[in-house]
Order: sequence, then C-alpha cells, then structure tokens
Amino acid sequence: MIHFVGAGPGAEDLITVRGQRYLEQADVVIYAGSLVNPGLLKSTKETCEIYNSAKMTLEEVLEVMEQADREQKMTVRLHTGDPCLYGAIREQMDHLDELGIAYDSCPGVSSFCGAAAALNLEYTLPEVSQSVVITRMEGRTPVPAKEKVAAFASHNATMVLFLSTGLLEKLEGQLIEGGYKEDTPAAIVYKATWPEEESYICTVSTLAETAKAHGITKTALIIVGDVVTHHAYERSKLYDPEFTTEFRQGVK
Ligand code: SAH
Repeated sequence: MIHFVGAGPGAEDLITVRGQRYLEQADVVIYAGSLVNPGLLKSTKETCEIYNSAKMTLEEVLEVMEQADREQKMTVRLHTGDPCLYGAIREQMDHLDELGIAYDSCPGVSSFCGAAAALNLEYTLPEVSQSVVITRMEGRTPVPAKEKVAAFASHNATMVLFLSTGLLEKLEGQLIEGGYKEDTPAAIVYKATWPEEESYICTVSTLAETAKAHGITKTALIIVGDVVTHHAYERSKLYDPEFTTEFRQGVK
C-alpha cells in the first residue's frame, strides 16, 4: 500500500494526525526533499528506508514503490503542503494503476493556508472578495492560454501565486495589464510556518523590488488583493444578530 501524504507547509507540527501515524508505521518513505521539513522524518521507525525524491526521476520513484510493494512494505510518499496542488501525483498514480498497486491520499495543510496564517489573513472578506484564484506564472511548465494571470486578474479577486517568485517583474506586468490597480495590496510570504518565515506587505507594483530588497528568490507565495490590508468589508451574515441560521434564530 502506498499513502500519498501531505506534509503541511513546513512546521513539523502542521502535518495531520493521520499523516503522522502513517509516517510512524512506514517501511519506506519517499519525501520531496526540496520543500518537506526533514524534521518530520524523526518519527519514522529505525528500520524505515528513506529516499529524497528531489534527486530522483519519476521512474526511480516508481521503482522504489514497486519494490516495496513486492516486499509487502508500506510506503509513504510525502509531498509538501497538500499533494493536490502542484504535487505531480497524477503521473505517479496512473503508473500505480497500471501496475495494480493500491494507494490512497491523506490531505495536508497547503502553504497557501500557511501563508494566510502568517499574516492573519482572511482571503474571503464579504464585499471585498469571495473567491481565491490559485495559480502560477508560466515557467518551464506551461500554463493553458485561457489561464494566464492577466485573464484571472480582471476579476480583482484574491489571488495566490505559487512557483512564481523568480518572475515577479513579469507578474507585476500581467497583474496590472489584467486589471489590478498598481497600488492594490500584495504580500510575499517566504517559508510560511517554518522557523525562518518572513512576510512583507507591498503593492502589486512593488512586488519585484520588495523580493529583491529581502533576497527572496524561491519558496515563497505571492498574495494579491484588497484582503491583504483588511480593506473595508461587510461583517459576516453568519454572526449577525438579525440573521437566522439553522442553528440560531435572528432577532429584528
Ligand atoms: N503542494 C504544495 C505546493 C507545491 S509547489 C502546497 O500545497 O503548498 C511548490 C511551491 O509552493 C513553492 O515554489 C512555493 O511557491 C510554494 N510553497 C511551498 N511551501 C511554502 C511555504 N512554506 N511558504 C511559502 N511558499 C511555499
């Protein structure tokens, strides 16, 4: 059995209870060494075989999984954040399907949640934004034409950009071209929830210079939108005394 497990955004205690248990029971762990906190591996058994996938190809990862399965060992494939975002899990799962090897997924705390926590942000403020666009700039991995940042920018919704820290000048251009004002609040969160976490509030037009000033080139998320500075918002209906819900009768 292979468990795909979300390691969380960085802090060792932000893995789920289930994920932690799988790690404790694993005979084999293949972890994404570029971003997963190696401290998480402390909870593995002494006999556990540990592989760093940052140095491996997909074929090598699959070979380790296949071998473990032949030996009836339990494997944890540990991905950063939540595996469902930019995790390259589908290609692994498709091969496992072909090989008839069983697997399941255990969610994790994505770094976009860790970044919100770093700034005590609510991404969905009433009357400000009720949507979160999670996307990336096109790098070596292409982005479908209809999903260009400029196209999403026209909504002025909250936007969180993964994998884009090296492309901030281009990003600024696309955000503004798409419809955010130059002074729309933005933030850069480096290594959210890690001990070395850093976060900076700036604006859409100062993203590149802010990152440069602080030497941030990778492992960061970019957050864009008025929610970053807690823009004037409407209080929530859910907790409004006049609002009736399934659990509470409102009073006029
Ligand atoms: N599955 C992961 C994302 C993997 S893609 C998740 O759910 O978080 C890798 C990108 O995620 C990095 O380039 C960076 O943009 C972002 N990232 C991962 N961990 C981060 C962290 N702790 N702080 C800020 N950004 C992070």
